[in-house]
Amino acid sequence: MDADTTNATATSVDTLAVHAGREDLAALGLHAPPIDLSTTYPSYDSRAEAARIDAFAATGEAPEGPPVYGRLGNPTVARFETALARLEDTEAAVAFASGMAALSAVLLAQHATGLRHVVAVRPLYGCSDHLLTAGLLGSEVTWADPEGVAAAIRPDTALVMVESPANPTLAEVDLAALAEACGTVPLLVDNTFATPVLQRPVHSGARLVLHSATKYLGGHGDVLGGVVACDEAFARRLRQIRFATGGVLHPLAGYLLLRGLSTLPVRVRAASASAASLAARLAADPRVLRVHYPKLGGAMVAFETRTDPHEVIARVRLITPAVSLGSVDSLIQHPASISHRIVPEDDRASAGVSERLLRMSVGLEDTEDLWRDLDQALDGEPVHPTRLLEQGVQVPDRTEDAEFAGV
Ligand SMILES: *Cc1c(COP(=O)(O)O)cnc(C)c1O
Repeated sequence: MDADTTNATATSVDTLAVHAGREDLAALGLHAPPIDLSTTYPSYDSRAEAARIDAFAATGEAPEGPPVYGRLGNPTVARFETALARLEDTEAAVAFASGMAALSAVLLAQHATGLRHVVAVRPLYGCSDHLLTAGLLGSEVTWADPEGVAAAIRPDTALVMVESPANPTLAEVDLAALAEACGTVPLLVDNTFATPVLQRPVHSGARLVLHSATKYLGGHGDVLGGVVACDEAFARRLRQIRFATGGVLHPLAGYLLLRGLSTLPVRVRAASASAASLAARLAADPRVLRVHYPKLGGAMVAFETRTDPHEVIARVRLITPAVSLGSVDSLIQHPASISHRIVPEDDRASAGVSERLLRMSVGLEDTEDLWRDLDQALDGEPVHPTRLLEQGVQVPDRTEDAEFAGV
């Protein structure tokens, strides 16, 4: 069995993460993937170029050989796309400049077929919510509970969209049941939080899997990118939209994302183990009202504090107080102030994004060091239960509440 066959048949995420998209390197005499920064590709045969452009315009199939122009495709980016498609177990993947560019391309691809209605389950990432709610691309959204999705679907429904675990509450949806409810309408699952290490949504019936590659796929907080993993038919339409609207991923970003993928399984498992441990400690801590940690696992923890959440943000020292997630270092932010600020207050509240919620992305630091930092950050002045009630906060019935009883 030669090396190519081994790579082509490997299905373990660990093996795919380090080999997919790199199968031809040894034959090229290379170890690290080359970075092709070309914006254009010379050719003395303009008839052949015309044929290649015609073929792309008609089908959206990635051109054979050099891509003609940087907006049609890029070999370094194509390596990342190949690798991500293998990891998500889809036929293809199409990369974009950011997660939002990827979502925009999906909406535009569906709009081009005349379908403008989207059914979506809250919560979604704040800007995804905003893009749909504001109808910036001309879509009309119906928000539904997972159980209400089937009833919300109309003849002009382009897409059903969900995140699971969702940003920022980590709410989980039964993807197989949801896919069933979608019937023939494509289900788009934003898999940014789970990554293909924990969940491959196409195995549950999703047609489109979206990532903000900025997060776990890149993994080091130094590259913006987005990607949609899907069947080749949808990928062709996405490539045509990308060519016409220009939201391409830079080749250097493609290189960094491919490199990021090679450590994705190791990073996700290590950070998840730490996150599970921190979630358990937070759940047992009287200064914490409620902890959200997915059954699926993962490296994100959300929690509602009895102390002022803004004070926790001001007090962290090792953990970085910043939006975004999925980096090697731990980040914490207050969704109502930052990641979900753009979502109207009532919609935020009904989606479970309370004013007391903090969202933490657990990195690769030592778990005890992280806990020490959280522990001291939580040591702000406790908020009196009466004030919590005034703020509409449900105070869970727990023994620790007894100490406030006589106050
Ligand atoms: C960050 C994020 C996005 C948007 O991705 P960008 O790369 O920032 O454009 C979409 N979905 C989820 C779940 C995210 O966390």
